[in-house]
Amino acid sequence: MSEAFAAVDVIVAKRDGHELSDAHVDWVVDAYTRGAVADEQMSALLMAILLNGMSRREIARWTAAMIASGERMDFSGLGRPTADKHSTGGVGDKITLPLAPLVATFGVAVPQLSGRGLGHTGGTLDKLESIPGWRAALTNEEMLAQLRDVGAVICAAGAGLAPADRKLYALRDVTGTVESIPLIASSIMSKKIAEGTGALVLDVKVGSGAFMKSPESARELAETMVALGRDAGVTTVALLTDMSTPLGLTAGNAVEVAESLEVLAGGGPPDVVELTLALAREMLAAAGRDGEDPATALVDGRAMDTWRRMVAAQGGDPDAALPVARESHPVLAPADGVLVRLDALAVGVAAWRLGAGRTRKEDVVQAGAGLTLHAKPGAVVRSGERLLTLHTDTPERFEAALRDLDGAFLIAPEGSRPALGPLVIDRVG
Ligand code: URA
Repeated sequence: MSEAFAAVDVIVAKRDGHELSDAHVDWVVDAYTRGAVADEQMSALLMAILLNGMSRREIARWTAAMIASGERMDFSGLGRPTADKHSTGGVGDKITLPLAPLVATFGVAVPQLSGRGLGHTGGTLDKLESIPGWRAALTNEEMLAQLRDVGAVICAAGAGLAPADRKLYALRDVTGTVESIPLIASSIMSKKIAEGTGALVLDVKVGSGAFMKSPESARELAETMVALGRDAGVTTVALLTDMSTPLGLTAGNAVEVAESLEVLAGGGPPDVVELTLALAREMLAAAGRDGEDPATALVDGRAMDTWRRMVAAQGGDPDAALPVARESHPVLAPADGVLVRLDALAVGVAAWRLGAGRTRKEDVVQAGAGLTLHAKPGAVVRSGERLLTLHTDTPERFEAALRDLDGAFLIAPEGSRPALGPLVIDRVG
């Protein structure tokens, strides 16, 4: 087949700081997906995009081209509103687990397509797979049936959804081109728009454990994604939320499921509850159910009932004991004082090192691996008390994880105050 353009011309245009035409964008995304543009050519183009950026028009067109590379799902036959949440990725971020059944309890269908962890950020599917029997892969028909019967589904995106993004994301991961706002925004939004949700709430993380380290870059990413969603007819809002310290008291897989169950039982760490409720209120409002108070469904057990039905519908046993790592290792406070810093990135890397995450896509994660935190910034600690517990099936990993945690926490003299900002920093939309 003769091609409309030469890849090198598209690369040179972006390298020299020009805007790509609609025809260039449509062609290069389609040709790469078909295999007519080579990995090395797309790598060069991605690096030129990372360095020179893209206009809003280019980003919108790039997103549309990725959507057009695959199928679009349609939930309009469900007869109720749909709302989804996407987090840009953090440490201890188990919010999807209590959130999806909680929102579904109020008659809003939640089609939550989730991913696996790569690097230091955890993956929702990896966490759920620690529940015996639970399966992530559903056909489109199974997904639709579960949305009709239970109202919530958390599963892997099928191969037919935005295949261009699947290929591009894998290439970005190995070419140092993940951290580009146009590429992150188009990657996330192409999947969410193709998924067919009516409303979308974005949790854009800011801080050491997030892709976006500064509030300014997080706001730019949020504004870009909100504009893409709105232009595609999806009611979209974004919350900017803190990721300088891990969410909750756990980071890993089964340990995060256990903590989510505490939240669904009406307890759990205050920050996990606060963020779950903030996102639930946004999802309900975006789906036209603003009068509802989601906190009631955590306390009276309705959200837990939906969770149990959601897990069982995907083959999981909601009553089965969760896996526990074979070995654990404590980290003790070296002094009396106030814990003023506990770094999200270091905890995320340590969890990954202990076996909760993977180095290569084909790696198998350990269900029991991860960390339990016994104190959060602001807590008074005593010398010799446990600050953290590390969990793994493979104790030879402890040494490297402990190295990652070197300098990750700071204990200041009693009376000191940590520089704690709000968990929800801002709202865009
Ligand atoms: N998540 C995605 O789906 N894509 C990105 O580029 C980054 C995070």
